[in-house]
Amino acid sequence: MAKYTGAVCRRCRRENEKLFLKGERCYSDKCSLDRRGYAPGQHGQNRKKSSEYGLQLRAKQMTKRYYCILEKQFSGYFKLAERKPGMTGENLLRILESRLDNVVYSAGFASSRVEARQLVLHGHFLLNGKRVNIPSILVKPNDVVELHVNSKKSEKFKYIFENFSSRPVPMWMRVNKEDCKIVVERLCAMEEVQLPVQVHLIVELYSR
Ligand code: SF4
Repeated sequence: MAKYTGAVCRRCRRENEKLFLKGERCYSDKCSLDRRGYAPGQHGQNRKKSSEYGLQLRAKQMTKRYYCILEKQFSGYFKLAERKPGMTGENLLRILESRLDNVVYSAGFASSRVEARQLVLHGHFLLNGKRVNIPSILVKPNDVVELHVNSKKSEKFKYIFENFSSRPVPMWMRVNKEDCKIVVERLCAMEEVQLPVQVHLIVELYSR
């Protein structure tokens, strides 16, 4: 599976938005965006105003980076969003929010989406009672995601629960911390998406 291997904090600085890609560091005073709140590179501090295309491109790049997915998969999600009834932009964000790795992260079972993806890949979670290792699985209302019984005792998850489970959990899921269980009550509503993206810009970009 292809993945981005460059400097991670550059991505937040490029988008001028905290994308929470590095887990613990993002919540500390070591966050690179907090310390150097300008775009990376030699000319990062004196960038000119963006064109319309530039704004559309940045909206797409920020969304891709926030959910930690690459171009090919992102354009696949856009095509899927177009085929669904309703507004394409809203459908797109709802699909991205429904990814299993995003659900695991949002419920506080991982310090970042990158870590959530890795934990799913390593088979730590069950979906509706079956072990899964595909981070891109899209959850549906009433799906139940739970930690495998062996993983509940692991030091890794003890550390995650002690340090990251206090993040607010989205209203569209219910988390039972005692049983290490996440119940997806409904799909995410547009106003519940934390990413401050103007999704219509992405739709305009793909309509060019
Ligand atoms: Fe982004 Fe986290 Fe790096 Fe801050 S520490 S710039 S939020 S990845």
